[in-house]
Amino acid sequence: MVYYHDFLVELPRYATLGKANDFPIMECCPICRAKNRLQRHGFYERNVIAEECSFRIPICRLLCPDCGRTVSILPMFLLPYFQYTVDFILRILLVFWMTCGCLCTRQLRRFYEKRVFGKLTEMELFIREEGCLEILPNIRKEKAIKMVQMIQALGKATFVRRWWRHRISSFMAAPLYHGTRVAKTE
Ligand SMILES: [Zn+2]
Repeated sequence: MVYYHDFLVELPRYATLGKANDFPIMECCPICRAKNRLQRHGFYERNVIAEECSFRIPICRLLCPDCGRTVSILPMFLLPYFQYTVDFILRILLVFWMTCGCLCTRQLRRFYEKRVFGKLTEMELFIREEGCLEILPNIRKEKAIKMVQMIQALGKATFVRRWWRHRISSFMAAPLYHGTRVAKTE
C-alpha cells in the first residue's frame, strides 16, 4: 500500500537526505487498522525525473506485524508508478497545450495527455468538492488547461493527498475496467 507523507522538503533535499530523512512512525496500520507500531522494512529505490534534473531516491517501507502487509511511504512530489514528478507532468501538459512546446518525448507527452483527458470528469468532481463554482470551458483542451491550472494553484501536496484519499484510482492511473480496482499496493 502507498501512504503519502509530507516530508516538508522538496525533491533535491529529499534526495540529499536519503535514508537519513525523517521518516514517519506509524502506530496504526492503514490496511488492517491494528494498533501496533509498524516496523521498518528497508527501502527500495526509485528514479525520479524533475524538469531540471533526475534523482534516484530511497522509498521507506514499513511492515505491519499483524497483517504482514507492507506500506510504502511516498513523498508528495511523486505519483505511484510514475518517474516524472507531479509538477513536471503538469508543466509538460500546460506547456504543450498553451505553446506547443515539448518538454519530453512526444510519445510520453501523448501518454500523459491521454490519461488526463480520461480523468476530466473525476478532476471536475474533485475541483467542485474543493469548493470551486467557476464555470469551466466546454472545449476539452481548454477545460483541461483550466483544471490543471487550478490544481497547480492548490499546491501539489494538497492535491496529491486529497486526491489519493478520495479517489479509487490515483491521478494519472489507468482507468478502471470491469469494476476492478487499480491496485494501490506495490
Ligand atoms: Zn496491518
